[in-house]
Amino acid sequence: MIRLLAPNVYNKIAAGEVVDRPYSVVKELVENAVDAGATQITVEIEQGGKKRIRVSDNGSGIAKEDLPLAYSAHATSKLETADDLFHIQTLGFRGEAIASVASVSRMEILSRTAGGEAFSLACTGGLLGEVTPAAGADGTVVTVEDLFFNVPARLKFLKSDTAEEADISGVMARFLLSRPEISFTYIADGKTKYRSFGDGLSAALVAVYGAETLKNCIRIDAEKHGLHLYGFLGNRNFYKANRTYQSLFVNGRYVVNQTVGAAVTNAYASYLMKRQYPFYVLFLDLPPEVVDVNVHPNKADVRFADNQVVYGCVYSVVSSVLDGSLRALEYLVTPPQEQKTPVQDSFLQPPVPEAPPQEPAMSYAQAKRELAFDVSLPKGNEPHFLEEDRVRMEVRQPSVAQSEQTVLPPAGEDVFAENQRLLRERAAKVRQDRVDPASLEYKGELFHTYLIYQAGDDAYFIDQHAAHERILFERLKASWEARTATSQPMLVPFVISLNAQEFAFLEKNFPVLREIGFEIEEFGDASVRVSSVPTDLMGIDLDAFFREILSSMESLRAIRLTDLLKDKLATAACKAAVKGGDRLTEQEVDSLIRQMDGDTNMKCPHGRPAVVKMKKSEFEKLFKRIV
Ligand code: ADP
Ligand code: MG
Repeated sequence: MIRLLAPNVYNKIAAGEVVDRPYSVVKELVENAVDAGATQITVEIEQGGKKRIRVSDNGSGIAKEDLPLAYSAHATSKLETADDLFHIQTLGFRGEAIASVASVSRMEILSRTAGGEAFSLACTGGLLGEVTPAAGADGTVVTVEDLFFNVPARLKFLKSDTAEEADISGVMARFLLSRPEISFTYIADGKTKYRSFGDGLSAALVAVYGAETLKNCIRIDAEKHGLHLYGFLGNRNFYKANRTYQSLFVNGRYVVNQTVGAAVTNAYASYLMKRQYPFYVLFLDLPPEVVDVNVHPNKADVRFADNQVVYGCVYSVVSSVLDGSLRALEYLVTPPQEQKTPVQDSFLQPPVPEAPPQEPAMSYAQAKRELAFDVSLPKGNEPHFLEEDRVRMEVRQPSVAQSEQTVLPPAGEDVFAENQRLLRERAAKVRQDRVDPASLEYKGELFHTYLIYQAGDDAYFIDQHAAHERILFERLKASWEARTATSQPMLVPFVISLNAQEFAFLEKNFPVLREIGFEIEEFGDASVRVSSVPTDLMGIDLDAFFREILSSMESLRAIRLTDLLKDKLATAACKAAVKGGDRLTEQEVDSLIRQMDGDTNMKCPHGRPAVVKMKKSEFEKLFKRIV
């Protein structure tokens, strides 16, 4: 049943997308067919969709009395109350598409519900006709002719027929791939372009790209850290001249996303040259609450709660498959056939005939800790969460940990509203836990390590070491990001001797180290010499710093992203720069507390808390003053 949405409901829905091009009409109409449960969908277009677009389906159909409502703005059968917004299962829910297309075209809907009679209703430039009996099969046929016939200004912005058709083909390709269980027929100017039979992903891939492409693809299916990544990767010798052969579906929706795009591209980097682009059709399913799928419906992008986890997982799966490492055996669905290049042969005959090394199963939350080095956000493609949420990235951690216990709603739901709510709650908690630094009264220190403060009925114990590390960490990162790092020459250069691997690793990362203010160079015999250090790190224990870096060489090698490396460097640097048990001067204590800015949720860059709060009543309980 189609109902008009109450104003208080549609006001909560993100502003609808404007239907501005033939491909967006096709997208809306096919989505409606999918939502109607169709198993067969036929799309016919003429002149790039400008002359005619017709979408026929064998779905539920529209009842006679609902036909006029289908054309009304804010009328939908997919949503009733604002609460429904939290668990949307359908592609559409705004109830706007048909109304807006009908206002700028000649549209006709012909429909028959199962076992009923067929009726049709036309609408010309927004003027509704009469419901009339018609002849038709179960399902719905929607025809849109002369798009923008009454809006010449919009008509002018359309591209050539060929270009519009190409965009429609792109939309159709993605429908075939993302709904391999549906049988699609796509016909342009009388010619069948795509035809699929609802018989699975490989067949859909062949329907869109041809059998030759399938032969050149590696099919993967990987579960890693709570993320599910599956689909097709072009082999190392199969590349394209542009990015249009790259499709990513996150929780079932086609998106263009920088984080995943960069991870895949970087994994291919050592195999492809400039201007050679990998081919892939990838599906990434992840817990709905760590991704906002519906933030910009128009732009079809998503935001991940943590880019590094996603980047790390995608990168490591794709690169181990391409590198032909033993671990890849876990990810391969079918070893590629008819391939002669060495690396592909290695899939068929693994170098060592034993089981691939078992990677310890890791939850998303654990992975986040492992991969993200406690601090989130590589720059450049950070998700645009609420501003308050950027204040302390650590606050996300508890919620991710909670997500392990929470029963997750099925993937693919609209989580926008839900995520916004979570973020607001978290931001509110940060505000709530913040104390006014002016109200903190210094009461002394314990063991040269813990500073004691009182504010009203609360006592705060601050681990000066942890707090200092965090503050230094933030400062380093900020100056590195702003590229304002300065360096300070050392009186006595520091020389460290390494083994060949260590040297190779460090040398490869000289540019990063230099960028952040180290003056470092080869010093013969696999040793390096450091002659300047970043000003912020004056007095750093260089030996400890390099030992720390080299001890995590293995994991760092896997992460070639400069920003991730910088995070790790900063963490190591802070550890080496601040020593526990250092006695602070009164001035230093003072400045530390000012820099903390009352943040009682502060954690050190390794995730340990910097502040512990105890209420007066807790002391009273300890001393049995109250029970
Ligand atoms: P929405 O999809 O957001 O609900 P639309 O304007 O796209 O809004 O469609 C309005 C309503 O018309 C839908 O809610 C649905 O009930 C009905 N409808 C549209 N297309 C079809 C179809 N192909 N089969 C069955 N019902 C349809
Ligand atoms: Mg719709």
